[in-house]
Amino acid sequence: MTRQTLTILGSTGSIGVSTLDVVARHPDTFQIFALAGHRQTEKLAAQCVQFQPQFAVVADAECAADLAGRLKAAGCATEVLHGTQALIDVASAAEVTGVMCAIVGAAGLPSALAAAKAGKTIYLANKETLVVAGALFMQTAKANGATVLPIDSEHNAIFQVLPRDYTGRLNEHGIASIILTASGGPFLHTDLAAFDSITPAQAVKHPNWSMGRKISVDSASMMNKGLELIEAHWLFNCPPDKLEVVIHPQSVIHSMVRYRDGSVLAQMGNPDMRTPIAYCLGLPERIESGVGALDFGSLAALTFTVPDFNRFPCLKLAYDAMHAGGSAPCVLNAANEEAVTAFLDKRIKFTDIPRVVTHCLEQDFSDCLSDTDSLLAQDKESRAWAQAFMAGL
Ligand code: NAD
Ligand code: MG
Repeated sequence: MTRQTLTILGSTGSIGVSTLDVVARHPDTFQIFALAGHRQTEKLAAQCVQFQPQFAVVADAECAADLAGRLKAAGCATEVLHGTQALIDVASAAEVTGVMCAIVGAAGLPSALAAAKAGKTIYLANKETLVVAGALFMQTAKANGATVLPIDSEHNAIFQVLPRDYTGRLNEHGIASIILTASGGPFLHTDLAAFDSITPAQAVKHPNWSMGRKISVDSASMMNKGLELIEAHWLFNCPPDKLEVVIHPQSVIHSMVRYRDGSVLAQMGNPDMRTPIAYCLGLPERIESGVGALDFGSLAALTFTVPDFNRFPCLKLAYDAMHAGGSAPCVLNAANEEAVTAFLDKRIKFTDIPRVVTHCLEQDFSDCLSDTDSLLAQDKESRAWAQAFMAGL
């Protein structure tokens, strides 16, 4: 494999840690240029000592001083930077070949766009980038020769079972539809009457995957699958009516592609993000990821059902936003981020999340925004609508 120089944005998060785990297994192939860990300075310092990046990026001057002190004490020469511009700089630096975009939320958009503009290989975990700015991001990547590789397990599975020469035109490849699988999260069988009293601790306890708090709540509401529909729409140039969602509680099949001739191709494996990460980092080779072999002897049954919009109104809201197109997904995402934060802070109920999102999607917003500043302005305005609505709850 050719040697790669990586920037890892969101290195202290769940995806970031899994990425570094894979990287550490291949020290001759990967070297780290920069790590970005926002406010988690203790964890970031330990990562800097282990991986010796040239730069580490944190949220602000206070975090920077804290991290610099820790690094000095440990005798680590990593230079500390802070702020959004620093994220952009380490995502687009000339030395960097690949950028892992694993910041959570719309906060990951400016640095992911910078990597696209700089023509990097982009390992995209941050699905919110595609939800907020799918058209702009994909166009920017194409225009600048950047390669976008999907880290999200479903999209990675689809990517693995699409034809190798896939060009984004489904018909020409005999593809009938793309099927996203969903576990259904922790509340697949919970009595609907009990939904009002769901606590953050219950919502972040995913049955199969270990993930960050925001995506765990999104999985519980199935907003995550809704965001993933929009993500698949942009990544694979797939019309909304050719995207399906199937609930598969065991999380063994990570997604599927249905072909015209009746074949359905699936990708399987243990639910561990190191598999999709290693797949993308290793391309075109398959490399060791640390994930154990799938044990068919211990698999009881693989089951499938269709999702119930009554139970998961967030999934329906995302479907509708995808069909509406334009700025609707940006509004949906911003409202959801604000609502999930408020839910985790115990300021609103779990069942208020779809109410907040519905309220924001009912506001008057412009149809189509094609530049970063307008999208970020729409994101900000939508957050204000969400906050005002939640204040009245
Ligand atoms: P996480 O909360 O565990 O980690 C988030 C990372 O982003 C941390 O390093 C944090 O320090 C950093 N961060 C947080 N806010 C930031 C900000 N405002 N600016 C800059 N950095 C900030 O999240 P995660 O579960 O690793 O998810 C990261 C992204 O990957 C999300 O977009 C998520 O949807 C996607 N994803 C995650 C998984 C998973 O298994 N965890 C699977 C598929 C997709
Ligand atoms: Mg996923």
